[in-house]
Amino acid sequence: MSETRILQVADDEMKEAVSEACALLRAGEIVGIPTETVYGLGADAFNPEAVAKVFAAKERPSFDPLIVHIASRGDLKNVAIVPAEIADTVNKLTAEFWPGPLTLILPKHPDVPDLVTSGLATVAVRQSAHPVFRAMCKELGRPIAAPSANRFGRISPTSASAVMKELEGRIPLIVDAGACSEGVESTIISIEPREGKKPIFRLHRAGPITKEQLQAFGKVEKVREIKADAPQAPGQLASHYAPLTPLTLLEKPSDFQPVEGKKYGLLSYTGDDEGAYVGLHDWEIIESLSPGSGKLAEAAIRLFYVMRLLDEAGLDEIIAEPVSETGLGVAIMDRLRRASFRS
Ligand code: AMP
Ligand code: MG
Repeated sequence: MSETRILQVADDEMKEAVSEACALLRAGEIVGIPTETVYGLGADAFNPEAVAKVFAAKERPSFDPLIVHIASRGDLKNVAIVPAEIADTVNKLTAEFWPGPLTLILPKHPDVPDLVTSGLATVAVRQSAHPVFRAMCKELGRPIAAPSANRFGRISPTSASAVMKELEGRIPLIVDAGACSEGVESTIISIEPREGKKPIFRLHRAGPITKEQLQAFGKVEKVREIKADAPQAPGQLASHYAPLTPLTLLEKPSDFQPVEGKKYGLLSYTGDDEGAYVGLHDWEIIESLSPGSGKLAEAAIRLFYVMRLLDEAGLDEIIAEPVSETGLGVAIMDRLRRASFRS
């Protein structure tokens, strides 16, 4: 592979771009595609050779399964076998949250290649709400397997230029439809039915669909066990979403112990000094997730973009300020913790 092309998509030319990208997918190629969460690296989910290219381009270990994206709720039966005990719950969840950033882990349909699911008996499925991604699933007429379009363990891309930085020369095409509207990866759950009670939702990865939103349909609990060598979701790997520059997440301002001569940058929530982080040090650079106003939805959208800016600022260390762990703040803190993990 030599050249990676960026294909700009405006609303009026979406059809052509979608056709061009789908022609590549049909030919067994892989393409950078916008979703509402982050940019994905898509392949025909039923073509194992194409799926293998996704793992190779990302340098992703084969134990880390991909999410399968479908065109409509009706296509769920082509990739998953929904057990009768949870059929009603799946119907309610998909009616409420699809298309959108909720991924369901369900028993896999035999047609889904083992490579997609890393040999698991389950498959992760969602329907993206992004108009370009939706149109591609529809035109291809087959599900699209797509993890985030970054090299393994690195910061997820929320723009076509970020995909370019991650995968230039490794993929033929990136479809550019501007910045992602959610900014963090989908919420991932599995469903455990309970006799006469609402089901339990195991939260495999926190994301844009919050615990508060899911609670109307079931009891949200964390995944019980994390196995380092065979995670159920790579979101569960301790180190993930990581900049190359070391990042430290502070629990409180007094935890910051600067070393003389080292260059520190601050990943701030609002950029004002009320929280005592801005005034803590003579920072080389301060980047804010939600400048001034402090909105978690804006912070989520900007999180990976701001991480990238700080990573490219020539710092010795990035210091991140915590955000409140409610609603979308759970997903943001999860990403910051994993970005700060050092083994
Ligand atoms: P990424 O695109 O990097 O967000 O990766 C896709 C996510 O879906 C990862 O966190 C996967 O581990 C997760 N995933 C895919 N298939 C499964 C599955 N069968 N069980 C649990 N998690 C899964
Ligand atoms: Mg990822």
